[in-house]
Amino acid sequence: MCMFCHCQETKYGTTTHVVTFDNCVIVVKNVPGLECVQCGETFFADDVMEKLDKIVIQARQALSEVVITDYRNMKVA
Ligand SMILES: [Zn+2]
Repeated sequence: MCMFCHCQETKYGTTTHVVTFDNCVIVVKNVPGLECVQCGETFFADDVMEKLDKIVIQARQALSEVVITDYRNMKVA
């Protein structure tokens, strides 16, 4: 179920997750998620969220202005 508009119809897909900080943009491609067919919002399962958090923390340590990474290629502890 969609947590934004509460419609029942969601479809599985992958999306690009973008996080911006003050001077840094992190782009994570091919993140598996569910997309709401009604409002178009995409949301992630808890384990995906956790991995995303770790990817973002790792990416911030790269200290470059733009980090583009692929969810499928990231291995996090
Ligand atoms: Zn929705």
